[in-house]
Amino acid sequence: MEGYAFVTKEPLLGPVVLALRVDVPGRKEQLWLGEEQDVEAALRGKERSLFLAQTRPLGAFWCEFGQTAAEGWTQAIWALSDALTAKKRSQREEREQAAAHLLSQQAEGNGTNAAAWYVAIQIWEMYLRCRRGRDSQQAAQSLRDYAQLLTLPFGQYTPEMVHWLRDKPVIPVWNDRRDGKLEVWYPQGQMLFECAVVKESLRPALIYYRQRILDAGLLMRRCSQCGRIFFGPDARSTLCSDRCRKASRKAAKRQFDGRAKGKDYEQAYDREYMFWYNRITKLKKAGAPPEQIGRAQAALKEFRKEALLRKQQVKEKKLPASQFISWMIGQEAVIESI
Ligand SMILES: [Zn+2]
Repeated sequence: MEGYAFVTKEPLLGPVVLALRVDVPGRKEQLWLGEEQDVEAALRGKERSLFLAQTRPLGAFWCEFGQTAAEGWTQAIWALSDALTAKKRSQREEREQAAAHLLSQQAEGNGTNAAAWYVAIQIWEMYLRCRRGRDSQQAAQSLRDYAQLLTLPFGQYTPEMVHWLRDKPVIPVWNDRRDGKLEVWYPQGQMLFECAVVKESLRPALIYYRQRILDAGLLMRRCSQCGRIFFGPDARSTLCSDRCRKASRKAAKRQFDGRAKGKDYEQAYDREYMFWYNRITKLKKAGAPPEQIGRAQAALKEFRKEALLRKQQVKEKKLPASQFISWMIGQEAVIESI
């Protein structure tokens, strides 16, 4: 991986492409961003330097994209447009530098955001090509039209992400024909290895990506361990990756060990007492007959008396804590039968 520098140079010979692989069974996504010939070779397993090449948990591309700010692009586009029409060299260079700074900020400021990188590089390369044009006004106009189409999707999908998080149905996106060019490559023949490739508008790649995720029936979730947004198979999935699953198991074990080590029969008693108490609250809420509530309250009184007696015995080391705890658990059936 090489990265991309926003500097004044000759434009690249081939088009820049973004290739996306949505691997639903493997729950991951792969991205390749680079010159078309290099991406094609990399997809066939050859060593090539690309602007970006990544394998990540499925959903990262969409989540990053949905969180990318819409601001900043227009300013960069106008700086480049001004650079094309500038009369003085110093003025042109100043505008160029301002645009280069803004574009690299858009690309890098959002982490390794593939969509932002793709758009920033495309705009810069278009500028390099437009510099060669004879009619500077027309070149500036073409650059602005091109860049506006590319940056249009940013900020548009934020409300949709919120819907997705709330498990609401996602409305299909309408796009027109000039916004629909997408190539589908099968670079490794025998294997089921499908890649969507764009070299112009970003939107077809986004629509393809989200459609694949919808077809797979995945839901957007927030990880309970790291807080990241991810796609899971159902509403019960709360952990984003193997790493978080491991971390969560570790945390649970630590908690359990802590409890067992302390032999905290005091805490166990509090827990059991709450269990009884909650059952009575539930009966009241359900509008149970006063006679039934009375029986439950009497049973709680009896349980409390017995339990406190046993707790005292544990304290005086006349009764093992484990025996006390299992006695309390056995008593749960009493209140449950009322
Ligand atoms: Zn996580």
